Amino acid sequence: MVTRAGIVVTGTEVLTGRVSDRNGPWLAEQLRLLGVDVGHVVVVGDRPADLSAALAFLAGTGVAVVITSGGLGPTADDLTAEVVGEFQGRPSSVDPALEQRIAAVVEGLMARRGWRTDAEATAAGVRKQARVPEGATVLEPVGTAPGLVVPPAEGRSGPVVLVLPGPPAELQGMWPAAVAADATRGALAGRAELRQEVVRLWGTLEAQLAVTLREHEHDLAGLEITTCLREGELEIVTRFPPDAQPAYDRLSAVLAADYADTLFSTGPTLDDLVAGAFAERGLTVATAESCTGGLLAARLTERPGSSAWVLGGVTAYANSAKEQLLDVPADVLAEHGAVSPEVAIALADGARARFGADVGVGITGIAGPGGGTEDKPVGTVHLCVAGPGRRESRALVLPGSRSTVRERSVTRAMHLLRALLLGGPPA
Ligand code: ATP
Ligand code: MG
Repeated sequence: MVTRAGIVVTGTEVLTGRVSDRNGPWLAEQLRLLGVDVGHVVVVGDRPADLSAALAFLAGTGVAVVITSGGLGPTADDLTAEVVGEFQGRPSSVDPALEQRIAAVVEGLMARRGWRTDAEATAAGVRKQARVPEGATVLEPVGTAPGLVVPPAEGRSGPVVLVLPGPPAELQGMWPAAVAADATRGALAGRAELRQEVVRLWGTLEAQLAVTLREHEHDLAGLEITTCLREGELEIVTRFPPDAQPAYDRLSAVLAADYADTLFSTGPTLDDLVAGAFAERGLTVATAESCTGGLLAARLTERPGSSAWVLGGVTAYANSAKEQLLDVPADVLAEHGAVSPEVAIALADGARARFGADVGVGITGIAGPGGGTEDKPVGTVHLCVAGPGRRESRALVLPGSRSTVRERSVTRAMHLLRALLLGGPPA
């Protein structure tokens, strides 16, 4: 049987969008890795009644476990532990040993940072954080706030609630202990394995895939297939119990046969593939970017270890920068304009030569919203990837806002790199 969980993300700052939620998605992925299915992520503000309502709603969906994030601090708006205790029928009281441990952590923190605060107020905050619902398991603080595992009171049914702190690093640091707690293990015992496979297509429309899936519907029982189109990439995520593996193998074969010309990955992301190809082949790359302002260099250097293959990049916005830093000939700029295939090639060659890289990438375009002409409308972008013995250029007119045009240009450049290094569907 599939074991299900629910997540409550608390915090008025998350509800209002001042902080974007990093805990809900992270927890959902960790649960998936454990074979637990997440039906709902509920976001509530710092109001006890709303948190209680969210707990009641999730308990009503029959989940085995609920995870809360946030609201464990020392201030008056941090109410999660108290509310969860009440919801589970377990009144809270101060745990004196825990109070001492938290006080020691807080003292150390304040000494290191040179803070001085009112001793009484600090003690009150510590005492509040040391309140533990009767029968709950305490998870030792990663920051200052302890987490909790709170089962329903004796004789009651319902989910076990894991109470975790809001700061993502604290929540993530506490997760292993939360999963290892006896009550959590009890609630998750006997769960069935849930497998997940990902296939990525480049340049296939969702509607087209939908037709294929309908045609083979009778062969695909037991698979939960979700598709997501993002910047030209169609991601197909399939979840299934182990006994549906033969159905997945059939789907996999259908996709490989029908979409041979667009299937570029059976797992790794585009960025993983590009990084892996540079690392494995011992090649290096350098970038010369105009309209994307360094976004490609940022994307290439996002992962640790990228210094092994990224030599550097130049953001060459002005023509003078293109000429002086990347040796784009002045007459090429004058004759064809900065946004032209010729300049994209010169940028790629310039980056390659100046950095001494195996591969150079040039990007030049009009991201908008102004600056377009009849000949070169907003969204016109020229890309070039120059490698040993080979150059690939693309002339694009991309739809969307300034930020969309810039992001899509970078994604297209990543696909050009992927195709140059690994082959597969043309970018
Ligand atoms: P604290 O002791 O810091 O008050 P807490 O457990 O009470 O910890 P919150 O008050 O809910 O946690 O959040 C503290 C900070 O952690 C927030 O201001 C925010 O910066 C970050 N944070 C909280 N929840 C999230 C979330 N879901 N996604 C990203 N960041 C978050
Ligand atoms: Mg707080």
